[in-house]
Amino acid sequence: MRLTSFGGAAGVTGSKHLLETEGGRLLIDCGMFQGEKSGRLRNWEPPPFDPRQVQAVLLTHGHLDHCGYLPRLVREGFRGPIYTTRAGREVARVILLDSARVQENDADQANREGWSKHRPALPLYDTADVERTLHRFRSAEYGRPLRLGDAEVSFHYAGHILGAAGVLIDDGNARVWFSGDIGRPCDPVMFPPRPPEAVDALVMESTYGDRTHPPGVPEDQLAEVLSGILARQGVLLVPAFALGRAQTLLVLLDRLLHRRPELELPVYLSSPMAAAVSELYRNFPDEHRLSAEDLDRVFSRVRIVEHAQRARRLDRKDGPFVLIAGSGMLTGGRILGHLLAHGEDPDNVVLLTGYQAPGTRGRTLLDGGRELKIQGRRIEVGARVEELQGLSAHADCDELRQWVQAASEPPRRVWLVHGEAPARAALAAGLRDDLGDEEPLRVRELPEGETLDISP
Ligand SMILES: [Zn+2]
Repeated sequence: MRLTSFGGAAGVTGSKHLLETEGGRLLIDCGMFQGEKSGRLRNWEPPPFDPRQVQAVLLTHGHLDHCGYLPRLVREGFRGPIYTTRAGREVARVILLDSARVQENDADQANREGWSKHRPALPLYDTADVERTLHRFRSAEYGRPLRLGDAEVSFHYAGHILGAAGVLIDDGNARVWFSGDIGRPCDPVMFPPRPPEAVDALVMESTYGDRTHPPGVPEDQLAEVLSGILARQGVLLVPAFALGRAQTLLVLLDRLLHRRPELELPVYLSSPMAAAVSELYRNFPDEHRLSAEDLDRVFSRVRIVEHAQRARRLDRKDGPFVLIAGSGMLTGGRILGHLLAHGEDPDNVVLLTGYQAPGTRGRTLLDGGRELKIQGRRIEVGARVEELQGLSAHADCDELRQWVQAASEPPRRVWLVHGEAPARAALAAGLRDDLGDEEPLRVRELPEGETLDISP
């Protein structure tokens, strides 16, 4: 088997790993580049491989940086099946339709208001492209092998978001495990990730390879933020996608407000897909820790705002209240309008909850920048910016190392992907301590664009 990565190796977005076996070519993940402009421009270039020669796509999970390029791949000629878990398929449906809607809206608005350099501004893909892509999806059961040509493929629970899986591929000659994104052992919503089996190569994410999440859940920090909001009658803006971190945050809020009822305040989830997402949690009860009663209680606390017009009313509303809206890294979506309305007021707080990729507005805020350009306007963010640590959907450095050590046999090689340079280097050093480092180099950072042999 030969492996070439065309994205999501040296960075965290645009994951695309091409695996060539005797029998054909498989693409593991097909993500969109987000953040840095140089990356975003890569979404518009022709793919660096022929999509018609790809036999099938294996999708680890429905986050845009893993599935967001699929509709474009189909537009460029891909005609094979896309395999993922049953829940992964439903998540990808919601996320891809939302992605098309956001891009169509952005292009329309840019054309109406004339703030784009492109005349006319175009979406990368539209709803019709997404519909064509959804027809190509096929479901896989966790742990049940599928035959694809000469290869056997199986999906294994990863605990990162609903439907997230690691993918094991065995072509009879060598075995390789793609981790996708790896969840945490003690997440309030998801179960722990399943450790890898014995493999010749483990291709593994390293997003938080240089970080340790604080222990426990961040209820105290959240309590402090809420009391500040109540005291100042402010608005707490939480950029979070409607699926994943938003539910974890709602679970935390539910626990906290049960314990500290004096912190009670209205919570809004502003998302056109919020209802579809709550259904997903109900339809896949085996994927997460929440019972039907938990879901009823957690969702009864939140006021769902699906219609854009009602969402705009929140922009004129006085605090105190909590407003959760996507996208989580402030790259698009409803949160931008809400930030234009509430971001300048120093009584308000912007609470970042997840990983912020370089080049995103979320990263600018996290790094101390306060001037943002949104829809052709510049705003100076006067609201306080805080990071809610410990709400991450990704395992941290120690958790990633423990996950590898839990393998039934140590992997013969580990190739690190999906991390900024310091994160990859730190995790590589940690894994070399754990696994030893004889030649050929057992742990290395997978270079982008270079083809590596996976031999047994
Ligand atoms: Zn992810």
